Amino acid sequence: MARLIYADNAATTELDADAFKAMTPFFLTEYGNPSQPYSFARMPKKAIKEAREVIAKCIHAEPDEIYFTSGGTESNNWVLNGTTYLNHTHGAIVTDNIEHHAILRTCESIERRGYPVAYMFADNDGIVQRKALESFLTNKANLVSVMTANNEVGTIQPIKELCDFAHSKGVMFHTDAVQAVGHIPIDVKDLDIDFLSASAHKFNGPKGIGFLYIKRGIKILPYLCGGGQEKGLRAGTENVAAIVGMATALQKNVINLSANIEYVRNLETELLKLLSQTGIEFKRNGAGEHVPGNISLSFRGKDGEMILHRLDLMGVIVSTGAACDSKEIKVSHVLEAMKVPKEYALGTIRISLSKDNTFKEVEQIVNILRQILIT
Ligand code: PLP
Repeated sequence: MARLIYADNAATTELDADAFKAMTPFFLTEYGNPSQPYSFARMPKKAIKEAREVIAKCIHAEPDEIYFTSGGTESNNWVLNGTTYLNHTHGAIVTDNIEHHAILRTCESIERRGYPVAYMFADNDGIVQRKALESFLTNKANLVSVMTANNEVGTIQPIKELCDFAHSKGVMFHTDAVQAVGHIPIDVKDLDIDFLSASAHKFNGPKGIGFLYIKRGIKILPYLCGGGQEKGLRAGTENVAAIVGMATALQKNVINLSANIEYVRNLETELLKLLSQTGIEFKRNGAGEHVPGNISLSFRGKDGEMILHRLDLMGVIVSTGAACDSKEIKVSHVLEAMKVPKEYALGTIRISLSKDNTFKEVEQIVNILRQILIT
């Protein structure tokens, strides 16, 4: 089989070689527990401090506003639970119907405990408009949570506008920025958000590590109780190697951000141009600004899962937007929310390109799609 073409970078990314190199001493030689007072803990303790500073700088935060977690899912769970149960009289959340399941399932569990959650509707372009928030935000709300970039269709949400409106009503604002951090510029000070979730494996860091930005002075309940790590809010011995790997990967991506964005956007344009030239009938889901490289394509009358498996057999890795459960093919909640017609939605794949893909690979992807779809 020819070399694998990995085009599922919104699912996870390749670990950066420098990140891997920076991590190794903390597995092999510098394995001291950073909480201990002796000299053998000095290196891991220093590494955590420096990683926190690096990460803070990458998103224009202060180091004491960065809390290490096990990834995006945990960061999202922490914000939603930790703000709702802190405030028993106003434990209401406003979110939307195209969020990742790490938000939606957490909201469902919060609802089961008797706290109201309101779900705004994204429009057919995959955008949560300010007018949706205006009509859903009541004086009972405590927190608004809207993702920065959608994982399935790549659309970028008007976070600053939504956050400003929530703040004008005295409501806190969280954004799940898992698909955005390391891929588009993020400035938490400019956005003035209260919480931001991020995950290292989406920006060439290791899996199982992420962070939550909590604006200085904002209150939240602890997520894990135990030792005093992360200022007593998220206890447990730190995953030093992963923290160092995350900081190294993020810093590298942020330093190269403009060049990466331009390169990936060019790859994207080329893919769409070549695909249009094949004569295959398709539509791209989601309008407006996209996170670079995230391309959701629907092929009318085709079967997305079949396309995924045939691409897989030919060495191309992508995702689908419709999956088969035991009885039927289910369209994803995002495509459903965007009201993508079923004959298109069922034939959806997500190609997510990164700085590690090449123009040659883009050409090969289109050629293979042509073989699969023009039969
Ligand atoms: N939020 C979004 C938007 C995501 O795309 C993902 C992962 O796909 C997550 C949250 C979950 O992140 P993690 O895999 O780090 O738990």
